[in-house]
Amino acid sequence: MAQKDYYKILGVDEKASPDEIKKAYRRLAKKYHPDTNPDDARAADRFKEANEAHEVLSDPKKRKQYDDLRHFAHAGYGAGGFQQGGRQGFDINDILNQFGRKGGARGRTFTQEDLGGFGGLGDIFSGIFDRGQRFRQERYGPQSGRDLHTEVEIPFDVAAKGGSTVLTISKEEACDRCSGTGAEPGSKVEKCPQCGGSGMISVSQGAFAVSRPCPGCYGRGEIVSEPCTKCGGAGQVTARKRLSVKIPAGIVDGRNIRLRGQGQPGSSGGPQGDLIIKVSIMPHRFFRRRGANIHCDIDINLAQAVLGSKVKVRTIADKHAMLKIPPGTQPGTTFRLKGLGVKTDSRLGDQLVTVNIEIPGKLSAEDKKLFEHLAESLHLKH
Ligand SMILES: [Zn+2]
Ligand SMILES: [Zn+2]
Repeated sequence: MAQKDYYKILGVDEKASPDEIKKAYRRLAKKYHPDTNPDDARAADRFKEANEAHEVLSDPKKRKQYDDLRHFAHAGYGAGGFQQGGRQGFDINDILNQFGRKGGARGRTFTQEDLGGFGGLGDIFSGIFDRGQRFRQERYGPQSGRDLHTEVEIPFDVAAKGGSTVLTISKEEACDRCSGTGAEPGSKVEKCPQCGGSGMISVSQGAFAVSRPCPGCYGRGEIVSEPCTKCGGAGQVTARKRLSVKIPAGIVDGRNIRLRGQGQPGSSGGPQGDLIIKVSIMPHRFFRRRGANIHCDIDINLAQAVLGSKVKVRTIADKHAMLKIPPGTQPGTTFRLKGLGVKTDSRLGDQLVTVNIEIPGKLSAEDKKLFEHLAESLHLKH
């Protein structure tokens, strides 16, 4: 719904005095009066427009509101600005959608009811600023950057003993073309002419003057004459970054590592978000983890189990450990190698070794004789 240019309708200057407005209105009212133009729809419209324009411009309060809104449109809010495209008037939706595009009310169409006739224009006007203020809080106050989430899979040994892993993430970074300013190199970042660089303007609301974020610069105080061609004025680009991440010894599968300040950049001096890395641990073909303890299975032969033995067992350290198998060890017995588990800051785990006894399948003739001999001996004892 376009607001009409009341000055143009009356054919007067923006700075016209109340007297000039009155005279212009009288001239038009006389010219297009329905009495002198019977059955002339065009004249009737002109007559209506002139009345509307006069009603607003003859009332100092309404005229001020109208001027403010007009100035607002003129300041570059949307294609509906007075000086742009030779259009008459401006579209309130253009202005509000400008805010919507950035402030979150996208696509909302404002109707005559929203405007509430001309009396409601002040409300819409303050509504615009409310939106502007929210926008400032949401986007232009010091804002922490968002947290970034990623996942990484690490080898069993790295999780157990600690170490580091390398991962690649996509994150926003200050644009290198404009150094994060959002301005095309060579273009100017200028003081906002509307607020003089303060980022705030004073708006009269009834008897009071209220400070509001400047709509000309969204409270930034600066205006970029030409946005950067690489980042489109955002000041940030998405970049891929390789990171080396320290893995603490004994990290548990599914645990998160939080790297402070490695997330998305903040805005207006706000801190960077964090990078949160979910760690999953690759299985190991020999070891299993249970908390700080390391479990494994080994095979021993029948003679080792029966007679006792010493066997070499692999540990998560690079060395082997010697495990003493006592005579008469039963299948499934678990032995504890103290202190050979995961070492964290707070505790030291053990390695638990479960023995499996191999029963020989195919026997040589000689071995068969020995077993037969053994069988006879065992049989005699029972
Ligand atoms: Zn840039
Ligand atoms: Zn400004």
